[in-house]
Amino acid sequence: MDFQGKRVLITGGARGIGYSIAQRFNQLGAEETIITDIDEAGARKAAEKLSSSGNRAVAYKTDVSDEKQVKELFKRVSEGGKLDILVNNAGIIIDKLLIKLSENDWDRVLDINLKGTFLCMREAGRLMLKARYGRIVNISSMVALGGNPGQGNYCASKAGVIGLTKSAARELGIRGITVNTVAPGFIETEMTASLPSQNKEQYLANMSIKRAGKPEDVAYAVTFFAAEEASYMTGQVLVVDGGYFM
Ligand code: NAD
Repeated sequence: MDFQGKRVLITGGARGIGYSIAQRFNQLGAEETIITDIDEAGARKAAEKLSSSGNRAVAYKTDVSDEKQVKELFKRVSEGGKLDILVNNAGIIIDKLLIKLSENDWDRVLDINLKGTFLCMREAGRLMLKARYGRIVNISSMVALGGNPGQGNYCASKAGVIGLTKSAARELGIRGITVNTVAPGFIETEMTASLPSQNKEQYLANMSIKRAGKPEDVAYAVTFFAAEEASYMTGQVLVVDGGYFM
């Protein structure tokens, strides 16, 4: 895979899966890797790390749930030229059983995971339509496909990402833009570090491949969809979960 000459934007790229995705694009020759995150210091550190050993990487602070900030981000991006690839990776969890979930717990998770994905897709879509080229890869989750106790808000947001992906794929395909989803399983990052050990054991017991996933496992699938050669795949969900759901 070769991303020479490509400009890539990754949301939530300061750490975890997002950083690993940014790192892989950078290593595979992307001309510019744009790391955005609500964590400004983290994003800057990540971009500096990539730039020091590879091609250009820049950092912008953006809360993807805030329309004004997202519009400002894409205005700055468009001033720098075309955008070839967007990866909607920013996401959070607020895990509680349904009967204990507050309206705020619901809204925050849906606002970041689903509305944030929509806002970035809309702005990137406008740029990509003009260029008649684009690759959009959204990060969902395996639990969007099977549900998970204590994750009603998260599962709803990530299932919404799949529906949004498929609709956008139908709208944008005619202009050379593909839209796909990667649905990771249990991946070792800060997000999953606080999970109770019995949850981790339960995940591992049901996997074919008896190890937790690494951020790089997800990054590999993202670059697969983002490759120029993946021009005949759109609206798809690629599950990267060690064989948990089949
Ligand atoms: P993480 O918590 O380590 O990283 C998430 C990043 O998103 C952080 O850098 C954070 O600052 C950023 N972020 C949070 N809110 C934001 C906002 N409003 N605007 C911009 N950035 C924001 O999590 P991770 O495990 O690397 O997860 C990355 C993505 O993968 C998420 O969408 C997550 O739901 C998804 N995912 C993770 C797993 C897993 O097991 N880790 C499994 C399935 C899906």
